[in-house]
Amino acid sequence: MQSFQQYINGAFSDGSAQFQTIDPATGTPWATVAEAGVEDVNAAVDAAHTAFFAPEWALMTATARGKLLMRLADLIAESAPRLAELETRDTGKIIRETSAQIAYVAEYYRYYAGLADKIEGAHLPIDKPDMEVWLRREPVGVVAAIVPWNSQLFLSAVKIGPALAAGCTVVLKASEEGPTPMLEFAKIFDQAGFPKGVFNVITGGPAAGAALTSHQNVDHVAFTGGPDTARHIVRNSADNLASTSLELGGKSPFIVFEDADMESAVNAQVSGIFAATGQSCVAGSRLLVQASIKDAFLAKLKAKAEAVVIGAPDDMATEVGPLCTLRQRETALDLIDRSIKAGAKLVTGGEVPARDGFYFTPTIIDCSDAHDAPSLSNEFFGPVLSVVSFEDEAEAVELANDTKFGLASGVFTQNLTRAHRMIRAIRAGIVWVNTYRVVSPIAPFGGHGLSGHGREGGLQAALDYTKVKSVWLRTSDDPIPDPFVMR
Ligand code: NAD
Repeated sequence: MQSFQQYINGAFSDGSAQFQTIDPATGTPWATVAEAGVEDVNAAVDAAHTAFFAPEWALMTATARGKLLMRLADLIAESAPRLAELETRDTGKIIRETSAQIAYVAEYYRYYAGLADKIEGAHLPIDKPDMEVWLRREPVGVVAAIVPWNSQLFLSAVKIGPALAAGCTVVLKASEEGPTPMLEFAKIFDQAGFPKGVFNVITGGPAAGAALTSHQNVDHVAFTGGPDTARHIVRNSADNLASTSLELGGKSPFIVFEDADMESAVNAQVSGIFAATGQSCVAGSRLLVQASIKDAFLAKLKAKAEAVVIGAPDDMATEVGPLCTLRQRETALDLIDRSIKAGAKLVTGGEVPARDGFYFTPTIIDCSDAHDAPSLSNEFFGPVLSVVSFEDEAEAVELANDTKFGLASGVFTQNLTRAHRMIRAIRAGIVWVNTYRVVSPIAPFGGHGLSGHGREGGLQAALDYTKVKSVWLRTSDDPIPDPFVMR
């Protein structure tokens, strides 16, 4: 049994309690992890609060902050294999995905390293004589970053990178499911040379999360997770009036018109829903396919879904690994069952393979005659695709927007003018045209509606970790007149 500690004020400790984390490929515990109690949460926030005002960080030049972030990026790149191995072990995400994703995480830190000294203020052409007025961009303060278990290193990079670039300090709460990659990350961070307390990592579930997000010294909460948890966080943040950015779930439409390149669309749909075993916020989980090509498209998709290699997540040959938790599999089975009762037809999958661990077969459900099926409105966070056919562009738009979420979307068509109309019409934070599930540190990421608010990635994300200070400087040497001279 391996063991992992929390990281507070530049020191590693066991926390007020410990818990065991489960290997989803076997369903058995494999590591002991520190669990933060309220006193640990308070210590972490105190450390971040003190570090925020300490001259080592508060007076550090933005260029120097950028250099530290660049050093961190290099250390992450060097440690990528170890981090990937841990994320695979602890969450079941397959090694070919974690290896590629974590190597790319270093690029996010590089992007924000370069951005640190490009966060500029402004000079205002003010409407008053003898006045210089300018804006300083200053860090918002202590950031509470809360991440779910899937892709934690990636989802934390889009918070830690811009927050530190802007001069904030951070307390990150890793998920209670699969926390070890973040605790290992803390060891890497420790080598980068930041002042102590600038970044802290704790673990734990809802109790630790609630203590953190309602703490009086937290200025901003950057959250990724489900909408129900987000509601708790918004309520908790009423205690400290912290600002929030919320990256939540999705039920993203993947729209295929009859003129699409069918091979490309099928392949993009396969990775769009089955990659990461469907545990991706941007999963293209609603296939909207034009009725004229539905049968041909589904036949190809079914063949590919049934050929997917299910196996151990640490095997490079595996294409679909286990779900992270048993609860997700139970949710998937329940939603599929209720959808079939509502008139949906099972095209393939819906089974629990005869092996240990939390495996689930790639599943396709045709809901074309069951628009009220719960699988069309609920996020599975599993390898389950719900299909609906449409007749024309207007119906495609109507179906695409028939959701409370609004994170991502995909449009497959060769018709350029239609592509532009669809881009305008779809209510989502991302529209991918003739591609799917591509991300970059340079491009913002975020949603509408139940998918949350705020954007991560790109320049704007760094600006969102700053507040504008207006500075007024009078340039006249004349004395200020008595204001009551008219009296
Ligand atoms: P979750 O909401 O259950 O948990 C997320 C985090 O919130 C965990 O660290 C958890 O401990 C913490 N938490 C739980 N209760 C809390 C409380 N009361 N106060 C503060 N923190 C609390 O989500 P999950 O099941 O771990 O992850 C899956 C969800 O995350 C899905 O809905 C998925 O779509 C979403 N997600 C969104 C994105 C995105 O970028 N939009 C990316 C990945 C995942």
